[in-house]
Amino acid sequence: MTDVLLEIGKNPQARRLVKALGLPLPLPQPLARDKGAWSATPLFDKNIAVGAAEGAEVLESIATTLTAAGADPLLVGPFADVFRAPGDTFGRPAKPLDENAKPHALVFDATGIKDAKGLRQLFDFFQPLVARVARSGRVVVLGRPDGGEAQSALDGFVRSVAKEIGRGGATANLIQVARGAEDRLEPVLRFVLSSRSAFVTGQPIQVDARARAFGEPPKVRPLEKKLVLVTGAARGIGEATARALAAEGAHVICLDRPADDGPTSQLARSIGGTPLLVDLSAPGSEKDIVDLVRAKGGLDVVVHNAGITRDKTLARMKPEQWDQVLGVNLEAVVRTTQALEPHLRENGRIVCLSSIAGLAGNMGQTAYAASKAGIVGLVRSQADRFAPRGITVNAIAPGFIETRLTAAIPIAIREVARRLSALGQGGLPEDVAQAITFLASPGAQGITGRTLRVCGGAFVGA
Ligand code: NAD
Repeated sequence: MTDVLLEIGKNPQARRLVKALGLPLPLPQPLARDKGAWSATPLFDKNIAVGAAEGAEVLESIATTLTAAGADPLLVGPFADVFRAPGDTFGRPAKPLDENAKPHALVFDATGIKDAKGLRQLFDFFQPLVARVARSGRVVVLGRPDGGEAQSALDGFVRSVAKEIGRGGATANLIQVARGAEDRLEPVLRFVLSSRSAFVTGQPIQVDARARAFGEPPKVRPLEKKLVLVTGAARGIGEATARALAAEGAHVICLDRPADDGPTSQLARSIGGTPLLVDLSAPGSEKDIVDLVRAKGGLDVVVHNAGITRDKTLARMKPEQWDQVLGVNLEAVVRTTQALEPHLRENGRIVCLSSIAGLAGNMGQTAYAASKAGIVGLVRSQADRFAPRGITVNAIAPGFIETRLTAAIPIAIREVARRLSALGQGGLPEDVAQAITFLASPGAQGITGRTLRVCGGAFVGA
């Protein structure tokens, strides 16, 4: 399925022509995306402007993250001393921001802002710079989760900036770091600034110290020696996820229905994984999964990706359609998680697929939205149970992603759905796969019980 406007947008001459003719075509900006495995320096040679409000508390972490990732920090403010040691260590000395610089990203430490007056510092940093952010650039604000009205204001600010810069393929996010979790910020900031978060925008991402931590997380090959299960791996998001996890060193058990033997076995072969043919809607299906996991000596990560839609307005929906959707999308996830719990290794990961439809509701999707909203509650309620073993439990809520699921939508509705987001285009299965890989990595230890949207800043469902 091709996105015609995106294709036109890839041609600079065509872009100029559309602009010159004043055509009302919202040409979306093609997004920069990292291909291949994680690199130690994902921000190599990128100029990143850094600002801070008075009383900023996470500048040191910002300095280490940027310089270790290969970026050149351009400072707006009197905190050069914080950047000196990390700048020397990684050969990335900080410089003052020069007037004509066109930074790739803008990072602002707003943790010190305590009241409405203090928010003026946010305005003063971003107002002159926001129009200079590069294509596929990044805006990141660092805040606190529990700071009253001023910290809460950051959320509305960032969501609005995301809408203002989205047409240039750029994203804006707020990272809220809990006190005591500062040492868990670096991998999160690194992911959000990298092009692996291409379709993640317009939302707060909370980092806390609930889940027990296990030492320094690796920056490359984060899933080396990990055993991972991906359900619904035959195609779409599941296939992209299996490939992305394998690229980071994981051995992937690729699960799909017996009828999908062909693509499942082919995928497993191509990534050196193990196929597992199971119909998750059958009661007792979890026993086959546990048998295999036990034989392999335990599991590190489970990605509950298998999902179905049976779209019908409620008045026309048959009971069996309701049962099928709730059965695969929610019951099977709960049942499988319970069965796998004793076999999950310490520092493990549970990642479930929710949906924007579950957050916003959608015409004709009562069953689907109920199942996907159920997932949000499931991860929220399970996080504390798993935290003492260092296991995190999170959901991903994709927006419009270009797969066979969305290809089946009638063209007029599809075109509208695709455009109704800050980035003005659909995401790719790889975008969701990258976010899942991040949540599956040891560096995501600070995120648990949350739902991360991968929706390009969808206009509904925040
Ligand atoms: P898809 O239909 O392309 O793939 C889903 C896979 O799950 C298929 O291979 C299917 O065979 C498998 N599956 C379904 N029922 C199963 C069962 N009973 N047992 C074993 N396997 C089963 O879908 P996709 O677009 O890749 O979506 C993947 C997940 O992401 C789903 O949970 C979906 O709800 C969610 N999601 C997708 C989008 C989107 O825009 N594509 C948006 C929001 C959420």
